[in-house]
Amino acid sequence: MNLHDLQALDRAHHLHPFTDFKALGEEGSRIITRAEGVYIHDSEGNGILDGMAGLWCVNLGYGREELVAAATRQLRELPYYNNFFKTTHPPAVRLAEKLCQLAPEHVNHVFFTGSGSEANDTVLRMVRRYWALKGKPEKQWIISRENAYHGSTVAGMSLGGMAPMHAQGGPLVPGISHVRQPYWFGEGRDQSPKAFGRACAAAIEARILELGEDNVAAFIAEPVQGAGGAIMPPASYWPAVKEVLAKYDMLLVVDEVICGFGRLGEWFGSQYYDLEPDLMPIAKGLSSGYLPIGGVLLGDRVAETLIEEGGEFFHGFTYSGHPACAAVALKNLEIMQAEGVVERVRDDLGPYLAERWGELTEHPLVGEARSLGLMGALELVADKASGRRFDKRLAAGNLCRDLCFASGLVMRSVGDTMIIAPPLVITREQIDELVALARRALDETA
Ligand code: PLP
Repeated sequence: MNLHDLQALDRAHHLHPFTDFKALGEEGSRIITRAEGVYIHDSEGNGILDGMAGLWCVNLGYGREELVAAATRQLRELPYYNNFFKTTHPPAVRLAEKLCQLAPEHVNHVFFTGSGSEANDTVLRMVRRYWALKGKPEKQWIISRENAYHGSTVAGMSLGGMAPMHAQGGPLVPGISHVRQPYWFGEGRDQSPKAFGRACAAAIEARILELGEDNVAAFIAEPVQGAGGAIMPPASYWPAVKEVLAKYDMLLVVDEVICGFGRLGEWFGSQYYDLEPDLMPIAKGLSSGYLPIGGVLLGDRVAETLIEEGGEFFHGFTYSGHPACAAVALKNLEIMQAEGVVERVRDDLGPYLAERWGELTEHPLVGEARSLGLMGALELVADKASGRRFDKRLAAGNLCRDLCFASGLVMRSVGDTMIIAPPLVITREQIDELVALARRALDETA
């Protein structure tokens, strides 16, 4: 089947996620047919450096035969069985053990899901169940942040703080309250980063007091906001948030769906920021995206309550801990350990990206170039001296993204913020190539 036939069928029958369906019809999709290492290839034979690791997930890169072998072996042996009631299977159990070895010390249990969104649905239920079991059912409110992303299910998007998502699809899940995000470049430049980070933490405390501390169940946040724009909070933010949370009887949920599994140069973002979460939703890099799997890691305080006092938890998914997905995830983690992937991000690739990416600060279109581990962002500005943004937000970012894609690099745009999160197995030479392609796209955008 040729490209045009495929594009026509795509247009006729396929609605893409997070896409203007009509605009897609006019242009036609670029069809990705295969991938190897850090490159995807389209149906025209073009190689494209995948600066987004798919959707922040293909951490080990494409074409890892060991993962394919783990999947096929498991599909032959036991393609499906569930973990409901009193059955389980080896891949789920072994993956649970491995995750608890890698997670912070107080984390010793996992509940599997099929995705990050399902993980956050599970979080919402666990948080409220926990407080009900503690005899405090009035603790219902969950504080989240504007512009956070926690998934696309109704609970996930309600926990998230994406205004365009909230504007579609009717009432949100009640009992979720959003506070300002620690996005210094976008919202805090009238203060120092330090003062702004503290002010954002103070906003959480103010909200706790407004809602009534007896009514607040949890605070949920990504260590670094991913989909919102690769927003690394000011250094003062997390220590100040920790101080606030320590004063009140509430749970901390750290969404590790993007930051988990090496992205920031530690196994979990919580370890990078020295956080002690009660619940950690995970997905994406857990299996390097080869098969869909997610979960919630539970700290002892929540796990013990749910286990000892909870009785049956009426919650679960057909594919919770799916054998083939679990087998691939386990192999993925074993390879990451054997190859020292996380340490390489921390000690070599992360610092190298920071150096090379930082050079883009000099570009006339760039107001800020920031990175942490293997996640980076560029803030596009119309006027470098004043930092003034473009009048029509979206336009410059989308243009730059399209120019990148046309010239062989996947970068994502969120408004006028350009994002990268390449596979963790990228080499220094490939980082050089990525930076050169990004610079070229910036020149063409200018
Ligand atoms: N949480 C975070 C921080 C995410 O970035 C995402 C997806 O991008 C999700 C949750 C939802 O995960 P999924 O798309 O697997 O449902």
